[in-house]
Amino acid sequence: MDFHRDKLSAIDPTQDTSSICVRGARVHNLKNIDIDLPRDQLIVITGPSGSGKSSLALDTLYAEGQRQYVESLSVYARQFLDQMERPDVDLIVGLQPTICIDQRTGSQNPRSTVATITEIYDYLRLLMARLGQPHCWKCGRPITQQTAEQIQDRLLALPEETKLMIMAPMVQGRKGAHKEVFDRIRREGLLRVRVDDEVYQIDEVPELNPKKNHTIEAIVDRIIIREGLRARMSDSVAMALKLGEGRLLSCHLDTDKVDDKHPKGTWIDQIFNTELACTECNLSFIDIEPRTFSFNSPYGTCPKCEGLGICEEFDPDLVIPERELSIDDGAIAPWRGLTASALTKVSKGLDVWLGKHKLDRTSKLSDWTEDQRTKLLSGEGSTWQGVLIALEKEYVTTTRKKRLEQLGKFRGKLPCPACQGARLRPEALAVRVADHNIHQIVRLSINDARTFFDDLEFDEHESLIATPIVREIAKRLAFLEKVGADYLTLDRAADTLSGGELQRVRLATGIGSGLVGICYILDEPSIGLHSRDNHRLIEALVELRDHGNTVIVVEHDEAIMRVADRLVDVGPGAGSRGGQIIAEGTPDVVSQVEASITGQYLSGRTKIDVPKSRRKVAKSRMISIEGATTNNLKDVAVQVPLGALVCVTGVSGSGKSSLVNETITPALLRRLGQPSQRPGAFTSLRGTSQVDKVIPIDQSPIGRTPRSNPATYTGVFDEIRKVFADTRQAKQYGYKASRFSFNVKGGRCEECQGQGLRKIEMNFLPDLFVECPQCHGKRFNRQTLRVKYKDLSIADVLNLPIEEASEFFEAVPTIHRVLASLCDVGLGYLSLGQPSTTLSGGEAQRIKLATELARTETGSTLYVLDEPTTGLHFEDIRRLLSVLGRLVDKGNTVLVIEHNLDVIKSADWLIDLGPEGGSGGGQIIATGTPEQLAEVEASYTGQYLKPLLNGGTEA
Ligand code: ADP
Ligand code: ADP
Ligand code: ZN
Ligand code: ZN
Repeated sequence: MDFHRDKLSAIDPTQDTSSICVRGARVHNLKNIDIDLPRDQLIVITGPSGSGKSSLALDTLYAEGQRQYVESLSVYARQFLDQMERPDVDLIVGLQPTICIDQRTGSQNPRSTVATITEIYDYLRLLMARLGQPHCWKCGRPITQQTAEQIQDRLLALPEETKLMIMAPMVQGRKGAHKEVFDRIRREGLLRVRVDDEVYQIDEVPELNPKKNHTIEAIVDRIIIREGLRARMSDSVAMALKLGEGRLLSCHLDTDKVDDKHPKGTWIDQIFNTELACTECNLSFIDIEPRTFSFNSPYGTCPKCEGLGICEEFDPDLVIPERELSIDDGAIAPWRGLTASALTKVSKGLDVWLGKHKLDRTSKLSDWTEDQRTKLLSGEGSTWQGVLIALEKEYVTTTRKKRLEQLGKFRGKLPCPACQGARLRPEALAVRVADHNIHQIVRLSINDARTFFDDLEFDEHESLIATPIVREIAKRLAFLEKVGADYLTLDRAADTLSGGELQRVRLATGIGSGLVGICYILDEPSIGLHSRDNHRLIEALVELRDHGNTVIVVEHDEAIMRVADRLVDVGPGAGSRGGQIIAEGTPDVVSQVEASITGQYLSGRTKIDVPKSRRKVAKSRMISIEGATTNNLKDVAVQVPLGALVCVTGVSGSGKSSLVNETITPALLRRLGQPSQRPGAFTSLRGTSQVDKVIPIDQSPIGRTPRSNPATYTGVFDEIRKVFADTRQAKQYGYKASRFSFNVKGGRCEECQGQGLRKIEMNFLPDLFVECPQCHGKRFNRQTLRVKYKDLSIADVLNLPIEEASEFFEAVPTIHRVLASLCDVGLGYLSLGQPSTTLSGGEAQRIKLATELARTETGSTLYVLDEPTTGLHFEDIRRLLSVLGRLVDKGNTVLVIEHNLDVIKSADWLIDLGPEGGSGGGQIIATGTPEQLAEVEASYTGQYLKPLLNGGTEA
């Protein structure tokens, strides 16, 4: 390492413009490191989990980039600079403007979609506003808008000698005597009016019945079409439009239309409008502008759901969970347990309605017709309001907190009844390009959208406007395709994307922006990507670099490491045992470095072996599901063997999460009486009695505020507080365990309410967090901190890396067991009190896994994990596999979604989905042992697996 330092010190960093030079970086665990990263190259930073990769890439380089950016911004922003912490580093020079594409999805706006992130939506709005054909949202007719000149020309184009009246519509089918309307017409100096289709002299209009609807038009002019009328026509049209507030009614005698009743011809009314309007429905429309199509703007957003596309309502499936029951047996779940009087109140009118349909409260709902069940829920006429309305009323009126909570359990997020999930108001949805409204366009997958835009045809005039807009859209679609996101739909909500998908979408946006001279920082973009599609991601990264950008990627994926211009290996261990640069250079150079674990794996000196034998799966111990159709699943039937390590594979978007996370897991949870989201559709699920418990271990944060951390989540903090309360000092001061909590008043610092941080709102910039000036981030008040256990205060303990804490609490088994288990999953480097908001998805997942490991298992638990290798280096994966193996050896089942070939080759059983992503996937391609799958030609997974197995094991 000293050699390294000497070599670098010889260069004067301030003179070097070809590199980003870092001197003396000490952020988190970094050991005062120096490094030069060549600009405009693809740099991959790797190393064990917790070794300091993110501390270098994100918390040093990106943080400094941000700081330099803010500095260049404005005086207003700069006044906060003192408070904005500088990363702990001596010097960074040569840093370009930095853009970070990471996977912390926590702050995603629920309104972001693939289309909005990539700006495709902005161009679409422009296209719709400029070239969309508006339609009346009520009757569906195309609607038009005309200028006064156009109206005039239309009228002058009538045949010579045509008799014509030009009128201003004043009242349209409204009750009243309308005296003031006639006064107004009189004041304008007009002599005639048409009232309910009869023409009168203004002073001869009969008294109107105020209780009836009337229609009144002021007759502005009566003309016979001849040469030389233009000036008079122009005045009359202008006056009619003024009186009619933009509308004009013409009435002319068509002498060709002759019949018995109309021997001289037929009078024909025609309405003109200078504003957008449907003349049939007499509806006016707002001006169509890009903002009309924005679900974030009051001009566009659906008024019912405020642009979210979903509403929280009572979910019929939760309200009537079992049709086999009658109303008296409790078919209507929210009514179960109500007192007789409460029940009478909420079901007012129900018996009359039941009588009408010859039904009663004792018949099973399954014997009713579909229509009867719908009416039970939604009501019929004035007799019966419907269960859903009754519940809604109770929900908004009840004052009992407990009942409110109870009722809340039956509510779910359902598509908005007004816009059906389209997020926009009906006027916006009635504008169409090539017969598609904007919502129909964004519902297309990237693939289909490309075809749609390729096939668009415009006339010459429209092309002038359309071509540049469509070009921008097509460009972005091509980038999305390039990064392997082609199966996503444009309206896919960002918060439903996996971390890797979101990163790839943002990467496409980055490439699409065409910026140069930027330093892009990415954090494991390969997540969720099948080996087959790795090259696409690699090509995208290379393209970004070739545009003239520096691309820094934190990665564990071997293929990406191998294409790096420069590979940086951080290590050797995690936490305090890491934080050094172990090797750097081309991948070849790094693989020669003996001390580098990465190098050992790259050169093949070390590898994860194919297991010597696999657990046999028994036909008798299986869970089987049939008819699964969630998202893209095509009537999938599959069996999951129990007591084995089962891996679900397939290219990104093939349907793995749809099958496992959205169908099997929630269905099992509900069957076992555990709370869960609503499962996706399936027809049958068998074998569930063989599992006692289902434990999904996902990557969602362990808490959404900095108040949660590994200690609070695993529950060890309660035990630790008890230890502190048991000390002699605490007893002497009379401190109970609650004194050592930062969530309640008493022991915590009140200045920051135990957060250790204070939020500073920056208006147009993201909020800043600065250390609390009172407690200096310790979160507790001075009195509390006086209490020591083995020389450490409660704040010191929260600062300990878990590894050290585990030794520190060796003598307290309840604490030690949990901490040891955290170390087992490779999280020993985290500090006990690290805020959950700073943990990656993979770390959160492993904390959950460790918490489960520390429990006493039943032996028939099903654990479900989604890409547990996220954030893990070769050596960490080896450790994870041994942890999972231990769970299975106790008789449990582990079901994982994975792309990592080391995990796949170690599984007992594989379920491979595909063949492609999106609508081209959703089928089971093959199931079997890795050896069996390797022989299936149609399986991409099998193809990539085959060279790794080299016939080593017996099936
Ligand atoms: P890697 O990216 O290699 O997995 P990190 O850079 O995230 O590793 O972590 C390196 C070390 O810094 C670890 O010991 C970790 O616990 C610590 N660390 C990371 N983030 C923070 C933070 N926000 N506050 C305190 N310590 C942190
Ligand atoms: P995988 O897990 O194999 O990557 P997914 O199950 O996530 O695949 O996706 C399968 C298909 O279903 C894809 O076309 C995807 O876009 C779609 N899909 C997945 N989740 C959602 C969702 N929440 N909303 C809409 N479509 C979804
Ligand atoms: Zn809506
Ligand atoms: Zn404080």
